[in-house]
Amino acid sequence: MSEPLVVVGNGMATARLVDELAKVALGRYAIAVIGDEPRLAYNRVLLSSVLAGETASHEIELRPAAWWRDRGVTLKYGCRATEIDIGRRELKIANEESISFSRLVLATGSTPLRLNVPGSDLAGVHTFRDSRDVDLLLTLAAQKKRVVVVGGGLLGLEAAYGLAKAGATVTLVHLMDRLMERQLDAPAADLLKSLVERKGINVLLNASTARLHGATRVEGVELADGRRIDADAVIFAAGIRPNVALARDAGIAVGRGVVVDDHLQTGAPEIFALGECAEHRGICYGLVEPAYEQARVLAQHLAGKTAAYAGSVVATNLKVSGVSVFSAGDFIGADGGETILLSDVRHGTYKKLVISEGRLTGAVLVGDVESALWYLELIRNRELIVPIRRDMMFGRAVSIRSKAA
Ligand SMILES: Cc1cc2nc3c(=O)[nH]c(=O)nc-3n(C[C@H](O)[C@H](O)[C@H](O)COP(=O)(O)OP(=O)(O)OC[C@H]3O[C@@H](n4cnc5c(N)ncnc54)[C@H](O)[C@@H]3O)c2cc1C
Repeated sequence: MSEPLVVVGNGMATARLVDELAKVALGRYAIAVIGDEPRLAYNRVLLSSVLAGETASHEIELRPAAWWRDRGVTLKYGCRATEIDIGRRELKIANEESISFSRLVLATGSTPLRLNVPGSDLAGVHTFRDSRDVDLLLTLAAQKKRVVVVGGGLLGLEAAYGLAKAGATVTLVHLMDRLMERQLDAPAADLLKSLVERKGINVLLNASTARLHGATRVEGVELADGRRIDADAVIFAAGIRPNVALARDAGIAVGRGVVVDDHLQTGAPEIFALGECAEHRGICYGLVEPAYEQARVLAQHLAGKTAAYAGSVVATNLKVSGVSVFSAGDFIGADGGETILLSDVRHGTYKKLVISEGRLTGAVLVGDVESALWYLELIRNRELIVPIRRDMMFGRAVSIRSKAA
């Protein structure tokens, strides 16, 4: 008989886990997925394209209902898991129902942070995480509202771009002295700022949000230096917090995320976690690729095969059309690495490769990102780049040609 495997969360990590499990252990588990969003799992990454009007909402569904059915998955969406009873091996669901499991997987993702400033609970203050948020933001933009986006990371930039493209007047405020400071060095960030401003977005740096004004609805943002920006809506895109409440309340060890080992096993027997809610070797990843790598390992492990997850080399791509940005690995050259630079600000191109001990350890690309995947491969595989070093800045084809010559 199939063992009952329950997965909490109907997001990207879950869809990949079910896919991988079907390949290696079809029929071994009777899988039930409990998800609180009221629709089939979708590609959350593409919400930015939906907001920008470049993709339709129905096109981002990861798998049709029949795909889940064919893999014997019982899908319960629009319902929230509220409690894990580890002793009884039961999961409680908001509508009072309980479901038994022999193994449980937590794939609950993250929640966007709202800054803890006066006024952050006013009407008109939103976040950008799910498809309901996108519907709301599109309504704001259609009404030509003045919107302030708080946060100049990937998410904030994509929110600002989508809103501006859909008709809103957008100001992006960022606490730090440069955009995407966790992925870009200063020259790349400066170039990005000018490219984003050309899209009609007003960018304010060193801008610390002190309070939001308004009686019941937000009317403006006040910065710590006294500047005030009038606004009909504010979008917080200033970070995420892994959803750990279910695990924590059940007595499972949590740090920032649900703590897992190299088999994605939590501190409780036969309870696993993956994706954005998981913390592995002290890291909570906020990107999808690590979740997919974890899904592959967990599926193998659940199938009784040997597999271990050792962490991921992450890369970031900004999805703002006409503003290509890629960053991976050590983008600063922190550990005494050498750098190769190509900077042509006038033509909107900046490339930086970081090399350490004969290997590529990091890359930042703005404008020309054609070779991004190749660089990522070189970083991940820790390949010796000595024979191609001289030409690698010009891309794979040039490097291979001159290596052969
Ligand atoms: C707009 C946007 C753009 C992004 N762009 C990129 C990008 O370019 N590249 C990249 O790598 N990543 C990007 N990301 C991040 C990426 O989407 C996430 O890393 C990925 O979705 C994580 O997958 P997950 O399954 O762990 O979490 P999620 O996809 O968030 O799924 C978790 C699900 O669990 C549900 N849930 C939570 N608690 C419960 C509960 N108690 N009961 C039932 N269900 C529950 C949630 O509602 C959610 O549906 C982006 C994210 C956003 C919002």
